[in-house]
Amino acid sequence: RTYKRQMICRLDIDSLNVPFLFMYQSLIPPDEEKVKQKQLLSLLERLIIKEWPKARLYLYGSCANSFDVSKSDIDVCLAIEEAHMDKSKLIMKLADILQSNNLQNVQALTHARVPIVKLMDPVTGISCDICINNLLAVVNTKLLWDYSRIDSRLRQLAFIIKHWAKSRRVNETYHGTLSSYAYVLMCINFLQQRRPAILPCLQEMKTTYSVTVDGIDCAFFDQVEKLYGFGHRNKETIAQLVWGFFYYWAYCHDYTNAVISVRTGSIISKGEKDWTRRIGNDRHLICIEDPFAMSHDLGRVVDKHSIKVLREEFERAADIMQFDPNPCVKLFEPY
Ligand code: ATP
Ligand code: MG
Repeated sequence: RTYKRQMICRLDIDSLNVPFLFMYQSLIPPDEEKVKQKQLLSLLERLIIKEWPKARLYLYGSCANSFDVSKSDIDVCLAIEEAHMDKSKLIMKLADILQSNNLQNVQALTHARVPIVKLMDPVTGISCDICINNLLAVVNTKLLWDYSRIDSRLRQLAFIIKHWAKSRRVNETYHGTLSSYAYVLMCINFLQQRRPAILPCLQEMKTTYSVTVDGIDCAFFDQVEKLYGFGHRNKETIAQLVWGFFYYWAYCHDYTNAVISVRTGSIISKGEKDWTRRIGNDRHLICIEDPFAMSHDLGRVVDKHSIKVLREEFERAADIMQFDPNPCVKLFEPY
């Protein structure tokens, strides 16, 4: 490891800035795609209002938090007060409405952890998942969106990390690796930790936005226009940050004791959260605290096999960035 540390001084890491920025640009969805997403959302709104006049639809997930790459599906949340009806029945009814209005591949997944209806719109060609009353996801989407507007390096870093994770197949929660949401939180926390910091901690600042969802107080500073230029004293480039991110997760993170916490803008201890032992299926082998549902570890899907896979991938990526003659190809080589 000492050897590797010395080697980095000899590599011109900044030669990777241009290819990384080019890659970032080519992953951004074109404007027409965003227009089609809006078009589909208004169609769904029209259909749903007919049945439930007081219901509202929200976009959440990557199509609304600015971390979506081209050709992503959209995530929609139906907010509805139908206390007398259970979620499965609502999902079935919603699926009926959509099916009878010519939407295609309509599927009601009533037994999923988060029950959803899946569909494809033949007009725009966009696929969509609709969940019900998952408002915490709508709020954490806003938090991510607000962070993304403070410093452009967050969006660049997260795009590259997400692209890497998808290429290397370590973005599959059903196989014990991490969700896109977890990777974006890791990027935010990483930029909060740089010195000078590139991102602030919005939840530790004065509250300008506050909602209570499922009994959880979600409060943070959201006047981010006032924070433009926050990270200007830190001149790190995208290539340095991508390398730093992989190097941190490969060789510096304390997997035994540490928890990544965007909520506090710092790294806290597993002891403090009582995440030191396995309870049920929660193994806490890599700990990423949800910013609002604080008892929720986004790393809980990771098991003793997949933690090894993940750590080897972080090491592979860090080593490629230091030693490989063609890191931009090698890093994203399909697994
Ligand atoms: P992708 O571009 O890969 O679809 P995404 O940003 O849509 O990325 P997902 O991991 O599919 O990310 O999650 C969609 C949204 O659902 C997230 O933005 C977040 O709001 C919410 N979410 C996902 N997983 C969790 C979780 N474990 N706890 C709370 N909210 C979550
Ligand atoms: Mg998504």
